[in-house]
Amino acid sequence: MNINSSYINFPASYLFSDIAKRVREFKENNPNANVISLGIGDVTQPLSSSVIKALHSAVDEMGTAAGFHGYGPEQGYDFLREAIAKNNYQDKGIDISADDIFVSDGTKSDVGNFQELFSADAKIAVSDPVYPVYVDSNAMAARAGSFNDSQWNNIVYLPSSKDNDFVPELPKTKVDCIYLCYPNNPTGSVLTKQQLSVWVDYAIKNKSIILFDAAYEAYIQDENIPHSIYEIEGAENVAIEFRSFSKNAGFTGLRCGYAVVPKTVVGYDDNGDKYLLRDMWNRRQTTKFNGCPYIVQKAAFATFSDEGKKEVSSLVSGYMASAKKVRESLKSVGLEVFGGEHAPYIWCCTPNNVPSWDFFQLLLDKANIVSTPGVGFGLSGEGYIRFTAFATPENIDEAIKRIISVL
Ligand code: PLP
Repeated sequence: MNINSSYINFPASYLFSDIAKRVREFKENNPNANVISLGIGDVTQPLSSSVIKALHSAVDEMGTAAGFHGYGPEQGYDFLREAIAKNNYQDKGIDISADDIFVSDGTKSDVGNFQELFSADAKIAVSDPVYPVYVDSNAMAARAGSFNDSQWNNIVYLPSSKDNDFVPELPKTKVDCIYLCYPNNPTGSVLTKQQLSVWVDYAIKNKSIILFDAAYEAYIQDENIPHSIYEIEGAENVAIEFRSFSKNAGFTGLRCGYAVVPKTVVGYDDNGDKYLLRDMWNRRQTTKFNGCPYIVQKAAFATFSDEGKKEVSSLVSGYMASAKKVRESLKSVGLEVFGGEHAPYIWCCTPNNVPSWDFFQLLLDKANIVSTPGVGFGLSGEGYIRFTAFATPENIDEAIKRIISVL
């Protein structure tokens, strides 16, 4: 069999696998080191009590003849789709209905899979640095061109750095699809409504699609910053939104997220005829996905109860308190620090502009701290390092002390 040759050209591994390998080697050579991770963006706090109750009760149901659930609807159960549509959109004055919601096993799958709906020659734009899945999934589909000097020659990279306040410029040429992530991973930056409108206007004018990753919307602390791209007029015609229960409710291990694909978003064939992306995504999901587990959807549903909402809010506040601590502490010792105000990520310039991987290694060797080298997210991330605020409060305090001691 002939393989998909896109994989040959690929950088050897996924960023976080590279980091894990370095950490594994370090631990093998230093078995007594107490390594603290402020690296991969994985939550550490346990699931809340409403979620646990819902899980137990759904498990019990599954053990009864009346309550057993086999294959569920590929799009998700109505109880969850309706709760999402009501709580996250309709109650906020956004016209999204339950049948625009496609429940999944998480946003990584959705943002990785959605590109299957694009033509083989669709032009993709991403901000740089970027959550690697957007780029890699297009590269796997042979849409990214060839990989030279750390970039794919058919992807449009939109640099985002302190020089432009982490707000990339619009593409200079027409692109078909733009991935936007706000609050941003890795930079922690956010867009105001006005700034986001610029992208929606571009998409409308160019018949492009925006793939809006809102996995971190729960971390927004300012009511003027949009949680959803559909707060922007016209976005309902050009944007798909992705959300997750991972970072707000701690579902990184349970797995549940959803894509919002409004009935008003269209793509075009070579003749310029219009097609509803919602119908195409429905066709894709019903063919390749057999649904998120019933018990997990019940757990996700529990986050919309009054108790569940309070618990989610308390989890997020806890992580944001840690983000503030990391941000303020690193600032106080003279590092140039960004993010951490509406996102669980703190994005720092490395001291004296040391290359990202060198600083990563220094922190690992001397402070036994795992971080994420900015350049791992793209060329414009060189000279930056990312810390997450997801560690336990005790580990955050200890990590701050150790980082400061090696600076
Ligand atoms: N999108 C972004 C920007 C992320 O940073 C992450 C995880 O770190 C994900 C999506 C993955 O979310 P999920 O756990 O729902 O797959």
